[in-house]
Parts: sequence; C-alpha cells; structure tokens
Amino acid sequence: RKTRVLLLCGGQSGEHDVSLMSARSVLAALPSGTFEVTPLLIDRSGRWLGRGETARVLERPGEEAAPGGELRPYEVAGFDVVWPLLHGPHGEDGTVQGFLTLTGAAYVGSGVLGSAASMDKVMTKQVLASAGVPQVDYRLITRHAWKNDPARVEAQAQALGYPQFVKPANLGSSVGISRAAHPGELAAALDLAFSLDRRVILEAATAFKPRELEVGILGNDAPTASPVGELRFEGLFYDYDTKYTEGRATMHIPAPVPPEVALQVRELALRAFKALDCAGLARIDFFYVEETGELYLNEVNTMPGFTATSMYPKLWEAAGLSYPELVTRLIELAQEER
Ligand code: ATP
Ligand code: MG
Ligand code: MG
Ligand code: MG
Repeated sequence: RKTRVLLLCGGQSGEHDVSLMSARSVLAALPSGTFEVTPLLIDRSGRWLGRGETARVLERPGEEAAPGGELRPYEVAGFDVVWPLLHGPHGEDGTVQGFLTLTGAAYVGSGVLGSAASMDKVMTKQVLASAGVPQVDYRLITRHAWKNDPARVEAQAQALGYPQFVKPANLGSSVGISRAAHPGELAAALDLAFSLDRRVILEAATAFKPRELEVGILGNDAPTASPVGELRFEGLFYDYDTKYTEGRATMHIPAPVPPEVALQVRELALRAFKALDCAGLARIDFFYVEETGELYLNEVNTMPGFTATSMYPKLWEAAGLSYPELVTRLIELAQEER
C-alpha cells in the first residue's frame, strides 16, 4: 500500500508564498509509486481549503484562494504522515505541531518544543548560550517597552552599538528585518518589526559584512550534518528580495572555507539541533568573520525553504542524497519510533 501523505502548505505568515513554492516542488518530486500525496492549503487568514480549491491555487502561481474555507482540522484523519510545509508563525512555531500532536498524527519535522524554541530568536539564543554555542550580542525588546519607555529602548540599542540588526523574534525570510546603521534609523526599524511581532531582537552586527554559512541537519536522535554551504550576494544583508529574486544570490557548496571552520560549523549545528530538541530536519545559519576567524550561530530554521533549488535540499544533494530521496527519508523519519 502507498504511504498517504497530507502536505499542509500556505499558512498565515508573511512566508505564505514561500511555502507554496516549496509545496509545488515536493509535489513534483515525491515518487508516485510509493506515495499518495494530498496537498491542503491553509489560506492567509488561517482557513483550511478543500482539495479542489487547493489544486486550483497550487496550479496557478499568483492565484489567491476564494473566501469560504473553514478551519477543518479533522482533515488530518486517514493519512499516514502529515508534512506541515509551513514557514513562520502559526506553522513553524509549534502551534500546528501542537495540533498535530493532539490528533496523534505522525508528522515531518520538529515537535512543539523544538519548533517553538527554534522559531523564537531570543529563546534560541538563551538555550544555545547554555550549550556553549557562540552567538552575537543581543537585546530583547517588547512592544510594551517600546510604547511606554522609548528612551530606555534607545539606551539599550546604544549600549549594543551600531550598526545593528532589528528583527521580529518569530519570523523568517527576512520579513520585517532592518539594518540600522545609526540611532536615526532605529525608530523606523522598531516600528516595522513591532508591526509583525510582540517581541523584537536587536542584534549586534558581526562585521561590516560577515560571510554567511549554512548547514543542513537530518535525523531524529542521531542526526547527521550535511556539507557546509555559503551564500553570496550584493548588498549589505540577505533581505527578502535577494532571497527570492532569481539570480540575486549564489550558493557555493561546499563553502570555500578552511576545513576546520566547516568542521566546527557542523559540530556546532549538531549541538544546537540536540539542545533545542529538534527532529527530522533543520537548516542552521552561521556568520563567519574571515579576518578574525570568528564563527557565530545566527539561527535555526526547523522548516527551511524546500524548493528543488533551495539551500537545504542542495546541501543534501552534495552529500549524495537526491531531492526525491531526501523527501522520502524525511517521511520515514516522521514515522520512526523514538
Ligand atoms: P531565514 O529566511 O533564513 O529564516 P530570517 O528571517 O530568520 O531568515 P536571519 O537569518 O536572522 O532572518 O537574518 C536575515 C539576514 O540578515 C541574514 O542572512 C544576514 O544577511 C542579515 N543579518 C541578520 N542578523 C545579522 C547580524 N547579527 N550580523 C550581520 N548580518 C545579519
Ligand atoms: Mg530564520
Ligand atoms: Mg525561516
Ligand atoms: Mg536566516
């Protein structure tokens, strides 16, 4: 009998379109002799669409769902595995994972704890600090603090130093992230980030422009690390347009770094994956300051972009695992006894 897979895609976050791109690639790649895949689209307002409407939107990029769907969590019954191929809040942050756990479904990727702790950039830093993983200096700012005591927030930012990065704590794809070069750029950056999240992280810039290394982790309690990849692009940081405009960034696999740096990246990523109780997969991002040899773990993505040309599948391809093999392995890991 074929393995019946429910592929959840879309979702309520600013990364809705990214999820649809990933879902189209997975649908095209899953070996149809082994799997019977049913895609199910969650629209921008959180409604679960029917199969017909899902197919219509997936087949025509740029198409929006018609109103009229509903919250239909019972849809998960009757499948062997659910793949929540969702990014960002209400998808990658433990909420959908909590719902799936309650239904008893086997699902791809991290559980509630690993998803929630990895999604929140501040919580990630706190957990990884206790695991001895090097990270950049940061401050947590709440929306309440920014509203009620902006002078104190400005002083905290000043103490951290400029330039700095201002990020919503629970997002991805660089949505809502700004680089504030000086105090005059702080207020607009904070307003933008707080329009998307209640918690915002201020991060010290590691260097004028650090090198960016990424590594893929695959497995449950005995995870393995892929080769290390590097992203190169024009401009001061890897923003949304650079990420999703064809030709704006290039991937280099393996990353041209000294072997001891690659080894350290893989070792730190495995340590982080375990400390955060991740499962299945994660793509872990690093900053490397070549001049000083410093390496910092930036963040952990528990459901990374998953198109055939995304970094995570490309890293595993370099390790000898094709895209269809990788997808098959993730579905097996979801069903594995732990
Ligand atoms: P993803 O799409 O990988 O989930 P994200 O939205 O979670 O991204 P980050 O990876 O934290 O965001 O940051 C996005 C980009 O901003 C980084 O790839 C990097 O270019 C830049 N950046 C973020 N923080 C820093 C920092 N502390 N120092 C230098 N550059 C930074
Ligand atoms: Mg991220
Ligand atoms: Mg992400
Ligand atoms: Mg990132």
